Order: sequence, then C-alpha cells, then structure tokens
Amino acid sequence: MKLDEIKNEIGSCQSTSELENIRIKYLGRSGLINQEFAKIKTATDPKQFGIELNNLKNSVEKLISEKQNILPKIENCELKIENSNFGLPKIGHLHPITITERQLNEVFRKLGFSIYNSPEIVTDEYNFERLNVPKNHPARDMQDTIYIHEPNYLLRTQTSTIESYLLQKEGQNLPIRAAFPGSVYRNEKVNRSNHFVFHQYQAVVIDRGVTMKDLIGTMDLMFKTLYGDGVVVRYRCKYYPEVEPGVGPDMQCFNCHGAGCTLCKHAGWIEMGGSGMIHPKVLEMAGIDHHIYSGFAFGMGLDRWTMAQNNITDIRTLMGGNLAYKPTEL
Ligand SMILES: [Zn+2]
Repeated sequence: MKLDEIKNEIGSCQSTSELENIRIKYLGRSGLINQEFAKIKTATDPKQFGIELNNLKNSVEKLISEKQNILPKIENCELKIENSNFGLPKIGHLHPITITERQLNEVFRKLGFSIYNSPEIVTDEYNFERLNVPKNHPARDMQDTIYIHEPNYLLRTQTSTIESYLLQKEGQNLPIRAAFPGSVYRNEKVNRSNHFVFHQYQAVVIDRGVTMKDLIGTMDLMFKTLYGDGVVVRYRCKYYPEVEPGVGPDMQCFNCHGAGCTLCKHAGWIEMGGSGMIHPKVLEMAGIDHHIYSGFAFGMGLDRWTMAQNNITDIRTLMGGNLAYKPTEL
C-alpha cells in the first residue's frame, strides 16, 4: 500500500460518493489501514512499523479531507480540473437541465437542505395514495400515467413521489430539510411545449412550528438568489391534493416586466410551480403526528425554467440529440 498510489486514486476521483467509497476502503473500521495495524505485533520493528503506518493514515485523512472540500465545486462546474492532460478536444457541455438542477442544488445546500432521489419506477401507493390521491380521485385524471404493469407499477408522474419515499424513510428522523430534482413521465402528446418526459424540482421541510411564512420566505429567497433582488413574485391560492392550503407562485415576466410578451403569453406573469403546507393526512400516512409537526412542500417545472433562461422555444430541443445547441451561459 503506497501513498503515491492512494494519492492518484483520490486525485482521479470525480464524485463525493466515489470519494466516500475510497475513504471506507482505506480508513473504514475494516479498511486496509486497520488491516495493516493488525500486523504490528508480527513486524520486525513494531515501533517503526507503527510510526510509518500512522504517518500514512494521517496523510490519507488529509488528502480525503482536502478532496471533500473541493469536490462539490467540481460537481457544480465552478472549478475546472487542472492538469487534466487527456489529449481530448474540449467539446461538449452539461445538459442545460443538469446546469439548472445544479444551480438549484447549490441554492438549497446553502440553506441547509440535503439533496435526495428515489426510483423512477414506483408503485401506485407512493405516486398517489401516500400523497392523498386515493383511487378514483379526480386529480388522477390530470396525470395521464404511463404504467409498467397495471394497476400497481408505473413511471413516477411527479417529484412528490420522492417526498413519499423520503417521509416513509425519514419520517421518524425529524426535522427534514430536503430538495430533489428528478425526471417524471406522463402520457403527453409530444409537441413544442409538451413532452412525455420532463423534469421537476421539489423541496420539503418538516419541523415543529413550520408555517406558511417559512414557505413564502424560502421561495422568495430562492427567486432572489436566482433572479436578483429586483424579482417580483405573487402568490395565488391553488388546489393540490397533497397540500392544504395550496399556493402557486408566479414571477413577473423578466422579459417584458409585466407589460406582456410572447414568452409570458401576454399575461405579464410566469407560473413557476405549486406549493403549500403538507396535508395532515400525508403526514399521518408517514406516521408523523401532525399536531406536533407541520411542513411545507413546493415543486417547480425545470424544463420551462431552463427554456426561459436559455431562450429555448421548443421543449423537444431539450430531449433531442442536436449537439450544435449550446446553453447561453457557456
Ligand atoms: Zn412577458
């Protein structure tokens, strides 16, 4: 076990999950370094053996800690990897949706949220029942569902499904502050503004004493972080089965500043998603006492957001393979 080899392994690591695997491999309880420590009694010079092994352990800990600090920046494209002499031409870029997702992940990480995901093939229970949409509920008609195997297995139709998994897994481990981007699927006819696969971004907070004020404050902060302090947002009452009350944030059109243009369909406002206080029934189904805890959730359509930021007028551009297209910020 040579330090140089470990250094190379850590140096070429490109994700936090990969780094965690390396940490466990070397520094875990049953890791390679501890396995070496077990050989100390049979070493010819136990003292020297111990000193060298301790030095190695300290160096590996330092290298991993340094990489832990730098990786989120690499993952968020803020830092180019230096000395990457692969001899390849510098073409290609992240997908515009990925760029938007990572911008939002960064905003929510700064606010203390963890980023989650869950399977895309789910059961009816997690996609509907646990979100207060029982069988025969009219809200099901609004989400023309793609079934893998009727009636129970389907492609998730909304990122609220991730919320169902999260509440079931972490419901006894409160408070929760989580955000999750994800692909969702509906049986939509494909045209300029609709696609059968699209993307949403959702955030959930559950704690004692969470109110509508916290929801509005968090959304305000998110819009200001993304669009600057001058952004104007209004909130309208809306109905979503999994929340009570429900609220829809609209942002004043950044293209025409409210006067009306083709981007905002002459409304002056752009609908940014849906939100509300999590319905007591949804909390109950996850075993959370709604007399003690409350929470909010909000979700946004990432495609529309990304299209607006990049002047894309046809959603099929996002799903197509046209490499000539480049996001405006690159
Ligand atoms: Zn407009």
